[in-house]
Amino acid sequence: MTLSVEELAAGIRAGDRRALARAITLVESTRADDQSAAGALLDALTPDAGGALRIGITGSPGVGKSTFIEAFGLHLVDTGHRVAVLAVDPSSSRTGGSILGDKTRMPGLASSPDAFIRPSPSGTSLGGVARRTREAITLCEAFGFDVVIVETVGAGQAEGAVADLVDVFVLLVAPGGGDDLQGIKRGIMELADVLVITKADGDLAATARHTAADYRHALELLRPKAGAGAAPVLTCSSLAGEGIPEVADTVAGLRADWAASGRLAELRSGQATAWMWNDVQARLGEAVRSHPAVEALAPELEAQVAAGAVSPTTAARRLLEAFRPDAP
Ligand code: GDP
Repeated sequence: MTLSVEELAAGIRAGDRRALARAITLVESTRADDQSAAGALLDALTPDAGGALRIGITGSPGVGKSTFIEAFGLHLVDTGHRVAVLAVDPSSSRTGGSILGDKTRMPGLASSPDAFIRPSPSGTSLGGVARRTREAITLCEAFGFDVVIVETVGAGQAEGAVADLVDVFVLLVAPGGGDDLQGIKRGIMELADVLVITKADGDLAATARHTAADYRHALELLRPKAGAGAAPVLTCSSLAGEGIPEVADTVAGLRADWAASGRLAELRSGQATAWMWNDVQARLGEAVRSHPAVEALAPELEAQVAAGAVSPTTAARRLLEAFRPDAP
């Protein structure tokens, strides 16, 4: 049964989880009629949104993201919060599935009545996935979640997009690594508001402390983000539950400081205008790719570009010439 926009909005405001899940499916849909319904729903719910602490969490595969989010999320639930976990994984468009946000990775949170886990939407582009995630944040906030965690794998372009969605961006780092700081790109380090060294237990406890010291030193050499000091570096053990409350306090403290100084309002309004242009770009890209004349021409041009017979610039120009938004 399809619910109207009004029914979905009312369901979300009333805390109906099925309405929330359906609404997220609606914003993820690429069908034109679903998109216009999703737009109306978001317009209706935007006044109810904006209240959550939005936390981005990234780190390389194996660093302990799932285990951390499970422990961190359950700590937040235990201290009276309601937590939504959303994932951004543009690579899932290739397989149609998702490695992130999988409920079985976070069994405690998945079964908590005060938590909600949603895997990454599949999409043709990072821009498309990020847009749907941003809209899902709005829906989760209107529902009443006061913490929204956005998870991504620290392996590509997604971190920048996630940093644009959240208030506080947390980078998880595994103990060890040494001089090259595990090849973590400077760009990602610069995005991080908080660094957390994971697995600080047992044999790895001492290494984790050394790693934390190395990163503190490295971060002192980086220019901090505007209006912020050097990012704090913490250690934790998700398995032992040690250091998790400290991470939560640090994140909440930063957010409170920035709310008081005006930095948060500035950050959010900058994000809102950036999203507007990201939307234009993502929607335009999707419209171009799915245009019949472009679809007809693209395979041949792709082959010619791949073979070096036509330059990418010329091919792009020809595709854009074939794209006439009003044409059938
Ligand atoms: P993800 O790929 O980043 O989501 O990482 P996972 O959360 O799946 O963890 C990867 C591996 O690290 C698993 O074998 C975990 O059991 C282990 N791990 C995660 N957190 C901790 C921790 O706090 N201490 C220890 N010793 N191992 C951990």
